[in-house]
Amino acid sequence: MRYVSTRGQAPVRDFSGVLLAGLAEDGGLYVPETWPALTHADWRALRGLPYAELAARLLALFVGDCLPFATLQAVCRDAYAGFGHPAVAPLVQLDHDLFACELFHGPTLSFKDMALQVLGRLFDHVLAERDARVAIVGATSGDTGSAAIEAFAGRDRADIVILHPDGCVSEVQRRQMTTVLAPNVANVAVAGSFDDCQDLVKAMFADAPFRRELSLSAVNSINWGRIAAQIPYYAAAALALGAPDREVAFAVPTGNFGNVLSAWAARRMGLPIVRLVVGSNRNDILSRFLASNDMSIRGVEPSLSPSMDIQVSSNFERLLFELLDRDPAATADVMARFRAEGRMPVPQAAWRRATTLFAGHAVDDAATLAEIRRLHAAGGFLADPHSAIGIAAARALPCPGVPTVAMATAHPAKFPDAIERAVGNRPPLPSRLADLYDRVEEYQRAPKDLMAIEALVRATVLRNAA
Ligand SMILES: *Cc1c(COP(=O)(O)O)cnc(C)c1O
Repeated sequence: MRYVSTRGQAPVRDFSGVLLAGLAEDGGLYVPETWPALTHADWRALRGLPYAELAARLLALFVGDCLPFATLQAVCRDAYAGFGHPAVAPLVQLDHDLFACELFHGPTLSFKDMALQVLGRLFDHVLAERDARVAIVGATSGDTGSAAIEAFAGRDRADIVILHPDGCVSEVQRRQMTTVLAPNVANVAVAGSFDDCQDLVKAMFADAPFRRELSLSAVNSINWGRIAAQIPYYAAAALALGAPDREVAFAVPTGNFGNVLSAWAARRMGLPIVRLVVGSNRNDILSRFLASNDMSIRGVEPSLSPSMDIQVSSNFERLLFELLDRDPAATADVMARFRAEGRMPVPQAAWRRATTLFAGHAVDDAATLAEIRRLHAAGGFLADPHSAIGIAAARALPCPGVPTVAMATAHPAKFPDAIERAVGNRPPLPSRLADLYDRVEEYQRAPKDLMAIEALVRATVLRNAA
């Protein structure tokens, strides 16, 4: 399996290459050169498998000959063994034709664990084969940082340094990062905003000598490995509801477009997915695009669903590439104009094609709280604000006769303030995190200064290099 950049000017790579590279050198995103397609019989044969086995079989299509299948099986078994539910990603029925797929049973209680637990282990194998080490750097406004730290803590061949805006992440989120005391983990609280943190990470990657010296790598949602590792839960849900002999729809609370892109990929591989509902909060650029081909950037406004407080959905470029018939020059041109003008000029025919599958629905904070309350009253299901947006969007855009699965992306205990506002009490943390508030924290503070941050990254790497 080979991968090409959506902008066509970066080297073609294999799976290991795109895993370590993250972003392509031309600024584009890696996508499979050709999509694996499964027949009706192939899909049927995957029914009823344990989650880890299903994941290994589907990932194998993307890993190609980079890793032996037995290694992939061991990686997946190990990655999901620590999840808090034996089904890994269980389906819960909410209404006649509406289901939730709980993706929050991993160690940090968000769906980011579903892919990152696999990625951490894949990095180990790929780096061992190359006898190499990398330093993973990233910025987080919440869920990504803790999931990445949990996935890479204690790994042999990677150090991980995560920047977060000092005082701007919730206490649960901060403690989930800073109480992981492995020697290859460093947390840095930057005196600045999330955007400042992200700019610092970009500046480190742009500093070519530094990037080479420390072998920087990234596991943010543009990393192809994350998209690939999210495909199995769409397959698991669809197969459980009768696919490939029955059509299904999904509703996905969306920020960077990574999660829902995996659903698109599952459909591209042959699953009968007839509708993808994109849920957004007041930061509704995707809903505006799907309603009226208006992909124009406005300011980011805070909401009850902070992991979706995003204006530019970076993974959208992968869909754009497909909508433009995989023309890299046209994709690069649209992206350049988007950056220059703040509005993405998607050709009308491409937009119309997108709307035959995708529909968008924005849910404001009041409607989010109302949905949490309604679910709680109806059957006791406790949805976090992100999950509630997916469920509310599914209700707003029903697909008659087709079961719809809303992706539940975070555990309600991660957002106790919103839950308390909606239903009057704070959900307890699952038992394995119950002592989170008593654990020792370790992190450094730093000014928003590139030299200072680079020195911290270098110190972390040197500490473990010996
Ligand atoms: C990251 C995140 C999202 C958004 O996912 P994307 O892949 O960026 O679209 C939604 N909900 C939660 C809880 C998240 O952590």
